[in-house]
Amino acid sequence: MKFALSISLFLKNRYLSPSDFQVLTCTCKTFKSLRREDSIYRSFCRKFKRIRYRHPAFSWKELFHIVDPLCPHISAISQRDLTAARPIEYLNDLKSVKCHDCEASLPDLWICLSRLCGYIGCGRGVMKHAFNHSDSEAHHLTMKIQTLEVWCYPCNTWIGVYDSHPCERYFTKLLSDVYQPIIAQSPLISSMVKENDKRQRERRIFGLSKNDEFYFVASAWWRSWRSFLVGNASYPPSIDNSVLLENNELMPNLSPMVDFHIFSKDNWKIIHDIYGGGPQITEESLSGPQYLHLLGQLKLWRG
Ligand SMILES: [Zn+2]
Ligand SMILES: [Zn+2]
Ligand SMILES: [Zn+2]
Repeated sequence: MKFALSISLFLKNRYLSPSDFQVLTCTCKTFKSLRREDSIYRSFCRKFKRIRYRHPAFSWKELFHIVDPLCPHISAISQRDLTAARPIEYLNDLKSVKCHDCEASLPDLWICLSRLCGYIGCGRGVMKHAFNHSDSEAHHLTMKIQTLEVWCYPCNTWIGVYDSHPCERYFTKLLSDVYQPIIAQSPLISSMVKENDKRQRERRIFGLSKNDEFYFVASAWWRSWRSFLVGNASYPPSIDNSVLLENNELMPNLSPMVDFHIFSKDNWKIIHDIYGGGPQITEESLSGPQYLHLLGQLKLWRG
């Protein structure tokens, strides 16, 4: 038993790799009992996965065996740093908050989540000062002020969203909860935050493959939907494709991506079930010589 204890200490001091540990604990009963020692897995998590903190409902062993990737930039933050107070005084008056490098104001503003930073920058829809800051300072995580959602620049994705691993969701919530006091003072942010789940699910509705039948959506509606997805606005009204019609016929001189955007049949169905409206317009509406030019453009666009 004493021997097992020294092995345990040996492991905690990180002298053995997880695969050597696996082999060692197969050799005899005494060593097998080491697999129940969670502190050994804590060392493995820190050294081999760079995970510094865990969800209270998960053991270090479970965390070590997670197959889904966690954003390594948030899981490398220690518990103390994750929940530490951050500079939020810049957000005291949301109406006058501006990008620290230009005059941009809400909604496309982001606050850097590095512990002592608090830099506020505009998004890619403006002058992308938030991105430039992350790039030059190696501050990886930023938060959309208007929705309190967290974006990781190196992972190039939102983190802690509805379908992320529960641990990543937990870490992200701890971090964004530091900013809860701003929600209290802004009815707009509180209502935008309530829509985050819907927003995150609808961000998954993309993608078009070569053989899809094209379904058209008027650009004006598409822009308001996109604004909702990126967290700049609340969700859009019903789909209105009537602007694409003249005497109930599709106008022939339209351009894809300028006058309308394209969904696959499946995605049109999802979006139409959510928002309703119409009318439904598909490629099949394009019969007749007046549509030859538009069909040519769609062919090019399809690749
Ligand atoms: Zn990341
Ligand atoms: Zn800016
Ligand atoms: Zn920063």
